[in-house]
Amino acid sequence: MGFESVLSMARRLVAERLRPGGGDSRGGPAVDATAGGGVDTLFLARTVGPGGCVYAFDVQEAALARTRERLAQHNADAGLARVELLLAGHERMLELAPAEAHGRVQAVMFNLGYLPGGDTAVITKPGTTLAAMEAALALLAPGGVLTAVLYPGHAGGDAEAQAVSAWAAGIPSAIAQAMQYRFVQKPHAPYLLALVKRQEEDH
Ligand code: SAH
Repeated sequence: MGFESVLSMARRLVAERLRPGGGDSRGGPAVDATAGGGVDTLFLARTVGPGGCVYAFDVQEAALARTRERLAQHNADAGLARVELLLAGHERMLELAPAEAHGRVQAVMFNLGYLPGGDTAVITKPGTTLAAMEAALALLAPGGVLTAVLYPGHAGGDAEAQAVSAWAAGIPSAIAQAMQYRFVQKPHAPYLLALVKRQEEDH
């Protein structure tokens, strides 16, 4: 059997670390930094579950509309967290997430590039992506996870993937552990970068 896809590996890394529910003792919120078509927003809403909250960012109303529609198709499922859709750049997540979420976020997911079937001119950019990842690292709880699917095969995606990988490689390991999941025979295929924020017992 082949290895699992980068998208499913990203979800597995999140699902293994995220504690369902809201409230301090049971686990904090989650963030979808690039709502896009809403697949990860729905996954996070299911994984966090009732009592918890998911914040989903996108700069395009069309993406938030798709996400809203996807969530509406599943709102009969009991078991979804409350979702706040934010029409804003993810580089503003530290400012837009409520103060009580700071240091308590369990997972932040990024899926970079452009929205398939949408406006391909609206694409994530290295400067704002890196600012958002710094903000995400500040929002994460100890033990919280950041995942990013990078697209070196898209126009502009290669420089962004390299910038993100270089940024992750430079994070002191006392702050977070960073890894890549990548099919080395396919250098242009999407790959996953994941970070886990250190907790005291890791030292
Ligand atoms: N490339 C993926 C899908 C990525 S969707 C695939 O092929 O499946 C990426 C989303 O990021 C798009 O909906 C786009 O509107 C959004 N985006 C672009 N810049 C952003 C920013 N600064 N903040 C938040 N979302 C952004």
